[in-house]
Amino acid sequence: MASIELRSVSRIFGAGAQAIRAVDRIDLRVEDGEFMIFLGPSGCGKSTTLRMIAGLEPVSEGELLIDGVRVNDIDPAERDLAIVFQNYALYPHMSVRKNMAFGLKLRGMAEAEIGSRIARVAETLGVEALLDRRPAQLSGGQRQRVALGRALVREPRAFLLDEPLSNLDAKLRSVMRTELIKLHRTLGTTMIHVTHDQVEAMTMGTRICIMRGGEIVQVGRPQDVYREPVDTFVAGFLATPPMNLLPARLDVADGALRLRIEGQEIALPLASRPGWARHAGRDVILGLRPEDLHEAPVGAATAALDCTIETVEALGPETILTLRLGRDGTELAARLPPEGDWRIGAALRLHADTSKLHLFDPETTRSIP
Ligand code: ATP
Repeated sequence: MASIELRSVSRIFGAGAQAIRAVDRIDLRVEDGEFMIFLGPSGCGKSTTLRMIAGLEPVSEGELLIDGVRVNDIDPAERDLAIVFQNYALYPHMSVRKNMAFGLKLRGMAEAEIGSRIARVAETLGVEALLDRRPAQLSGGQRQRVALGRALVREPRAFLLDEPLSNLDAKLRSVMRTELIKLHRTLGTTMIHVTHDQVEAMTMGTRICIMRGGEIVQVGRPQDVYREPVDTFVAGFLATPPMNLLPARLDVADGALRLRIEGQEIALPLASRPGWARHAGRDVILGLRPEDLHEAPVGAATAALDCTIETVEALGPETILTLRLGRDGTELAARLPPEGDWRIGAALRLHADTSKLHLFDPETTRSIP
C-alpha cells in the first residue's frame, strides 16, 4: 500500500507561446489506503495528473513522491501501481486468463502463483466462467471486470482508475460502483479514481479533489465539500440539480441581516452569521440547495420565497420543480416529496431554514463564512 504526494506538480505541454499548463502547480497528499476521487469538468487536468502518477506522462515541474520516495524519474513498471483505463485496453488476441496473466509472466512469476492469483481474483469479480473467452466475446461490463481483474492480480501498491465506468450503461455503472466500494473496503489499497460523474464522486470516495483549469479548487470528504463548497464553481458542480445561486444584496438594519433577492427579503439574526455583517451594503450571491426548499416553514428561523412553477419532473421518489423567483426572475430548482398538486404557471411559496443559506462573494466567487 502506498501514500502518494504531489508537491507543486505541473505538466506543461508544448513550449514558448504555445505552452499549455494542463496541470498547474498542484499540491495533494493521498493517504495510504485512501479512496481519492479526482472530479472536474472535461479538460481540467484529471487524467493528466493520474498519468503523471502512473509514470505515463512526465512531470514538468515539482515533485511526485510514493511512500515518501521521489519517483519523478522512476519507470512506470517500477512504481508498482496498476492503472485501469476507460477503454479497458485488453489484448484482443488473448483469452481473459492470458490477459490477466500477462503482466505477471513479464515479471517472471511462477505459473502456480499466477494460477492461484487468477483463480482468486476471478472468483472475487465473478468472471470464472469467462476465463477462456477473448475480449470480443464479452459484454462491456464483463470487459470492465476483466480490466479490473488484470489490475487486481498484480496486487499493486495502489490502483489508478481513469473513468473505468464511463462506457457502461446506467444500471451496470451503479452495480460496478458498489463493487468497487466493496473491493476497496476489502483490500484497503490506495485508490485514485478519475471521474466527471458527481454521483460516483459523492458515493465512492473517502475524499474528493475537485479540479478546474489545471488547479485544485477543493479537497475534502464528500459530505464536507457538499455542505461547505469553497466557491460558486464547486457549489454549482456537485449534485443535480446543483445549488441554486441567486443574485442578492446584503444589508444590516434594525439589528438583523437583510438579504434582498429581486424584490423579496429574507431577514436573519445578526448573531447567527457574524461573518456576514462585514459584507453589509454589498452585492452577494445567495446559495440554496434544492433539497433545502420546502413547501412548509421549517426550523426555528425560516425564510420564504415566492416563486412561479415552470416545470414539474416527477422522478418517483421525489419531484424536481423548476421555478422562477417571483413571476419572471432568476431560475431555481426545488427537490420536493413526490406527492403534490403542482401546476405549471401557478404561484408557490417555498420555505428554507435560514441556517441552510450560503453566501458567496460575486467578485471572488468565494464562500463568505
Ligand atoms: P476529460 O474528462 O475530458 O478526460 P481531463 O480533466 O482528464 O478531461 P486532461 O485529459 O488531463 O483533462 O487534459 C487537460 C488539458 O491538457 C486539456 O486542455 C487537454 O487539451 C490538454 N492536453 C492533454 N494531453 C495533451 C497533449 N498530449 N498535448 C497537448 N495538450 C494536451
